[in-house]
Amino acid sequence: MSTFEGDGPIAGPGSPEFDTATRTFNLAAPAAPAAAVTATTVAEVRAAVEHAAARGLRVRAHTTGHAAATFGPMDDALLVRTELGGGVEVDAEAKTARLPAGTRWGAVVEATTPHGLVSAHGTSPTVGVVGYLLRGGVSFYGRLFGMATNTIRAIELVTADGAHRRVDAESDPDLFWALRGGGGGFGVVTAVEIALFPVTSVITGAAFWRAEHAAEIVARWHAWTATAPEAASTSLRLMNLPPLPGRPEAISSGPVVCLDGAIVDGGSPSAREVYADLLDPLRSVADPVLDTWRETTPDAVPSTHMDPPNPVLSMGDHLLVDGFDAQGVAEFLRVAGPGSPLLAAELRQLGGALAVPDPAGGVLNHVSAQFMYQCVGSAIDPPTLAASRERAAMIRSTLAPWDTGRTIPGFVGSHDQPQGHLDTAQIEAVDRVRARIDPDGLFRGDITPNATKL
Ligand SMILES: Cc1cc2nc3c(=O)[nH]c(=O)nc-3n(C[C@H](O)[C@H](O)[C@H](O)COP(=O)(O)OP(=O)(O)OC[C@H]3O[C@@H](n4cnc5c(N)ncnc54)[C@H](O)[C@@H]3O)c2cc1C
Repeated sequence: MSTFEGDGPIAGPGSPEFDTATRTFNLAAPAAPAAAVTATTVAEVRAAVEHAAARGLRVRAHTTGHAAATFGPMDDALLVRTELGGGVEVDAEAKTARLPAGTRWGAVVEATTPHGLVSAHGTSPTVGVVGYLLRGGVSFYGRLFGMATNTIRAIELVTADGAHRRVDAESDPDLFWALRGGGGGFGVVTAVEIALFPVTSVITGAAFWRAEHAAEIVARWHAWTATAPEAASTSLRLMNLPPLPGRPEAISSGPVVCLDGAIVDGGSPSAREVYADLLDPLRSVADPVLDTWRETTPDAVPSTHMDPPNPVLSMGDHLLVDGFDAQGVAEFLRVAGPGSPLLAAELRQLGGALAVPDPAGGVLNHVSAQFMYQCVGSAIDPPTLAASRERAAMIRSTLAPWDTGRTIPGFVGSHDQPQGHLDTAQIEAVDRVRARIDPDGLFRGDITPNATKL
């Protein structure tokens, strides 16, 4: 039943509208606000903000709930789920696209590919553009094009005063800077404009080997990463996947090691040369049990990582590691390899353009670590969740010698995990912008931990 009769689509717990507006991709992290609304227009977003302000509620925003485990309590808030219409608009000549909040990356890829353009999207087509872009965004094109958040050209949002603003480098440089990686708490984003890049051909795919080959595969990949060209972005995962309808038996009948990623064509050395340099030594260790690597068009990239298309019950953890040497690799294999109850433990190669500060970017405009580590475990029942958490804690303590203490907010697994994407001076500068834009703290609950001096 709606506890907010007369307020249009704004709904309280117990109503179908509330259930729709609070739906999260991570089913292990249900959202429990005081009230919720699915906003499909800017007018509805403004009405929601005014409604909350008039009733002493705070405002929270989400799109897909992929990051629901990081939300934190919202029992004093109205949760706005953004599903704004209009679709992806591509300006092929300007190489830009306007994405209404609610757009998933799959729709962006579908719209840009016919123009021979790509966005700096992540591995999953179901992730929302707003959370991904505001929280950094590490793409399989990242080592070539940099952090996805740097590709933002303008952000449209409704702020605490109810105004609908279009913020860019000219109109409000400080807010534009703080929005890009500053940790939220500025308003409800209604659309984003991004830069696109000309790419018509890629080599992409995933190769899986049985875990008995993991030590050799990981060692060879690790050596390759030391001199890998920027055109290639790759990920190495130790995986332990249960059988599921549609999942190949070859990768769900025991632990496997997976190497996937994308190589952009058009540079020197050629994509084919990079591909041979990367994959030939790995294939000579053993035949993969499944191998989807091929030369294709960019619309194939979002299916490469095989992220789950449907909501899941999951937990995760994340660190940025540096100076990760042979000993680090051996330790990683020891705690995250066969015997681990986790679904996946990943090392994603950073470096290249991801490590280059972008003077035109936001507060989080580069990452200087060598690898992004993250793990994903099942939270299907309490004992499985406990086992996943225990193993994640073991990996965290084992990787401590290489832990930079820094994080990328998009990969942080839960609200209470250590975060470190901003330093103290950055936090204070972002807080000053927040105090100007939201003096009464209407959006305070939406701030990512480590992004405020609260
Ligand atoms: C399967 C999977 C694959 C992923 N792959 C990658 C990857 O390859 N690279 C990468 O960098 N990250 C990746 N991520 C992480 C992902 O980028 C983050 O979880 C991101 O926050 C998801 O954005 P969302 O809008 O879909 O999520 P939501 O959970 O809906 O939102 C997350 C946060 O974004 C903010 N937000 C969302 N919408 C709005 C809005 N309209 N206005 C204001 N604030 C808003 C809010 O602060 C919210 O708490 C992946 C996550 C998953 C689950």
